[in-house]
Amino acid sequence: MNYNKKTVTDIDVAGKKVLLRCDFNVPMAKDGSGVITDDKRIRAALPTIQYLLEQGAAVIACSHMGKPKGEWKPELSMKPVAKRLSELLGQEVIMAADIVGEDAKAKAAALQPGQILLLENLRYDKGETKNDPAFAKALADLAGADGVYVSDAFGTVHRAHASTAGVAAYLPAVSGFLIQKELDIIGGALADPKRPLVAILGGSKVSSKIGVINNLLEIADTVIIGGGMAYTFAAAQGGKVGDSLLEADWEQYALDMIKKAEEKGVKLLLPTDTVCANAFAPDAESKVVPTGEIPDGWQGLDIGPKTVEAYCAAVADAGTVIWNGPMGVFEFDKFAVGTKAVAEALSKTDAITIIGGGDSAAAVQQLGYADKMTHISTGGGASLEFMEGKELPGVAALLDK
Ligand code: ADP
Ligand code: MG
Repeated sequence: MNYNKKTVTDIDVAGKKVLLRCDFNVPMAKDGSGVITDDKRIRAALPTIQYLLEQGAAVIACSHMGKPKGEWKPELSMKPVAKRLSELLGQEVIMAADIVGEDAKAKAAALQPGQILLLENLRYDKGETKNDPAFAKALADLAGADGVYVSDAFGTVHRAHASTAGVAAYLPAVSGFLIQKELDIIGGALADPKRPLVAILGGSKVSSKIGVINNLLEIADTVIIGGGMAYTFAAAQGGKVGDSLLEADWEQYALDMIKKAEEKGVKLLLPTDTVCANAFAPDAESKVVPTGEIPDGWQGLDIGPKTVEAYCAAVADAGTVIWNGPMGVFEFDKFAVGTKAVAEALSKTDAITIIGGGDSAAAVQQLGYADKMTHISTGGGASLEFMEGKELPGVAALLDK
């Protein structure tokens, strides 16, 4: 897939209306008070918004929040986002009472260069997730005849929705700075990596990572396996994994991947030792055993010290490291050791370090290594599909450079 897409700086937006798809899907307090508990995504959108406003565009921002499934749920209104965004921008954010209805149309038509309007939750309309052409056209029409579409919601580019892909049929479509960075860094690492390219893959299940393992075995020099899915590999090779996470249906796949690595000359590293526990609990009793010798009643919750050493050595002289999936149950301090050690090793290399996946990003943040990485992807599911080498509809829809 072509990652070389036009961006906001490749197109003239002065005096034009810009339909800007943002990711304002922020977590809200559960009590319905309208309090945003983490405004990171709103702050992340500021560079593109500020650039457009400074260029003299009139910005019509839109996003979804939660999953209202076509129902007008008041607790999922974008109003609190408008309030927070206006505080951060230091200017009024005009709030539309609807999405493509009379109020939005009137406010979009009256919008002046340097002003910003926010539409209501896109998923209040069923046409959004259905990628209904009529809804996409109605969104595009808000920007008028010489309007422009800017896509900056990386978290939804793997979905072909009206606001992420459909709308590009009616307006010239370019990326904002957030998507541009994802394409430059992840796209660059997949298409033309600085070598050696080391992929570290972990997390809970093999079945959720089959595409990622398969694709990275095509392009990486070394593939490292950790986390819960390592036990399916161990069992496939005849090891005893006790009560560890095991997907018996995927053992053949694991063997196929081991064979594929051999054929391709890719170094495949599997954990040689494991920290296993007598329960899935933060204070469980634990001990280190060889990975294929986990006793009955015990389960592997982290990679062991020898494995940690081998994995850290493997990333030390890497040119690029792509990491998806924690090495263990990092949510429990006692079993976060392997994940932490790998994060620390990444923080010390000169390699380009890329973190993809929602839990992996959370782990790196929680463990305090976020600012040491080259790039932490802002899209969980989207970054996974990106690493699987899949075509992302919201990227494919943008104009080629
Ligand atoms: P990402 O969201 O980064 O793609 P995943 O969703 O695949 O990552 O996996 C994250 C989850 O995997 C974490 O919640 C972590 O606790 C779990 N996990 C990692 N190792 C193990 C293990 N050995 N046993 C059970 N769960 C594990
Ligand atoms: Mg996850």
